Amino acid sequence: MVRVVFGDGDLDNFEPTSFTDQYINAYFVPEGADYSVPFDLEHARSSGDAYRPRPRRFTVRRWEPETEQLTIDFVTHGDQGYAGIWAQRAAIGDRLQFKGPNGSYAPAEEVDWHLLAGDESTLPAISASVETISDSKPCTVFLIVDGPENQIDFSSSPMHEIHWVYRSAAVDPETALLEAIKEHPFQDGEFDVFIHGEAGEVRDIRKHLILDRGINIDSASISPYWRRDHTDEAWRSIKKQWLAEQENDI
Ligand SMILES: Cc1cc2nc3c(=O)[nH]c(=O)nc-3n(C[C@H](O)[C@H](O)[C@H](O)COP(=O)(O)OP(=O)(O)OC[C@H]3O[C@@H](n4cnc5c(N)ncnc54)[C@H](O)[C@@H]3O)c2cc1C
Repeated sequence: MVRVVFGDGDLDNFEPTSFTDQYINAYFVPEGADYSVPFDLEHARSSGDAYRPRPRRFTVRRWEPETEQLTIDFVTHGDQGYAGIWAQRAAIGDRLQFKGPNGSYAPAEEVDWHLLAGDESTLPAISASVETISDSKPCTVFLIVDGPENQIDFSSSPMHEIHWVYRSAAVDPETALLEAIKEHPFQDGEFDVFIHGEAGEVRDIRKHLILDRGINIDSASISPYWRRDHTDEAWRSIKKQWLAEQENDI
């Protein structure tokens, strides 16, 4: 992961929301495009398929109003991905154009405990969410990363149980997060749910939580952030159908 802190006086108009999963819609400019930040979005979109800006969503890991600094944590994936490559190469003075933020989840105050799970792409939203949960309120978090060296700790409250799951130690890395959740006895009481990350993993966990744990899906925040072996464009082109088919899982 690469952490990028944005600031230097350009964020006067940034209006944070009260959602802890708030995200920006950022626009990455392909190499060779004849426009640069700041650009007119409509004009840039008419640059042809090779050069139009590539939209990607990224979570606000932290917003510091006093210094007007915005922190984003980017998962990088080698030489693939407009956003990942941009973050890997980011240097002082680089600029990123974005809209937002928007969001939809914040830990509910009225529940007895919170359940949160995801992968590296969800780690920023989960960390930001848990940081708002009182040290005396129980929460159970499951996070999957490649190995112990990829763990990024974010809470020291004994009431916050953080379970790190390692792909490197798993028989099947694609089901390891689900298996960890399945094996875990849930505590009593009302809880809210925040599950995001890779589409296939999120879908299997959603099914388990509805069928085996009896959660009310209407009040749960569960949705896929990305799809294995799909660029964001490819994923968005099938996402609607994927979500419709997911309804038949239960
Ligand atoms: C609301 C929301 C908030 C998000 N917040 C964050 C965030 O804070 N940080 C973050 O890193 N991501 C976040 N994501 C996910 C991110 O938008 C996608 O992962 C996006 O595809 C990355 O774009 P890219 O240009 O780097 O790669 P793409 O061009 O989209 O994809 C290139 C290749 O990389 C693979 N890939 C994409 N993402 C991952 C991944 N996480 N792990 C492994 N392989 C991957 C793709 O399957 C593809 O094969 C969020 C998504 C949503 C919807």
